Amino acid sequence: MKQRIVLLGPPASGKGTQADRLAAKFGIPHVSTGVLLRSECARGTILGQAADSWTRQGLLVPDELAIRIITTWMSEHGTRFIFDGFPRSVAQAEHLDLALSGLAAPLDLLIVLDLTDEEIRRRTSSRLSCLNCGATFSAPLDTLAEGWNCPRCGAALIRRDDDRPEAVEKRLEVYRELTAPVIGYYEQTSPHLLHRVNAGEGSDAVFTAISTLVFLK
Ligand code: AMP
Repeated sequence: MKQRIVLLGPPASGKGTQADRLAAKFGIPHVSTGVLLRSECARGTILGQAADSWTRQGLLVPDELAIRIITTWMSEHGTRFIFDGFPRSVAQAEHLDLALSGLAAPLDLLIVLDLTDEEIRRRTSSRLSCLNCGATFSAPLDTLAEGWNCPRCGAALIRRDDDRPEAVEKRLEVYRELTAPVIGYYEQTSPHLLHRVNAGEGSDAVFTAISTLVFLK
């Protein structure tokens, strides 16, 4: 079974949802740099204050900050993980490879969740998120509204600032410019680990496909 998994993909491609489901099924810790950063922002920490202006606008926080947050997480939790939202630049991917090779714990699975821009816009326009546990819900589908309690942990649900249409357009641009090249990087360095899945299929179909990769490949 795979132990060090990276989920790549554009905003709202289901990385968080699928990582949560994989974590529950296989007992591998799920870590989302976006969730960690939002929690730092909500608690008003120095790191959160530094990250806030970038995340609000849909821009990436500087590489050093993202790397620091993930390195701290690994030093506290070890090297079994499902990363969701990291790495998001080639510099971050190179740093991760270096850090993991120093620990003799290389990545063993890379999954790209592909989704069209049209579907990304549709999903982000109806998405509600929990700042506490990171769960996301589709508002009309789940008949939830902003301010309601998260069905999973009870905290208040919010509409993320960066799910506003202007910020989503920015995030798409940033994804194309900085994060899509990470896929190219892994195509060069670890093509045998890389698998693409159509995230436009239903959540269950995507989960079945990636569970098979985690368990068998
Ligand atoms: P997410 O919840 O994954 O959509 O991330 C929300 C926001 O957090 C992103 O738009 C970035 O501003 C920031 N962020 C999350 N992960 C990273 C990362 N690996 N590198 C830089 N910025 C990040």
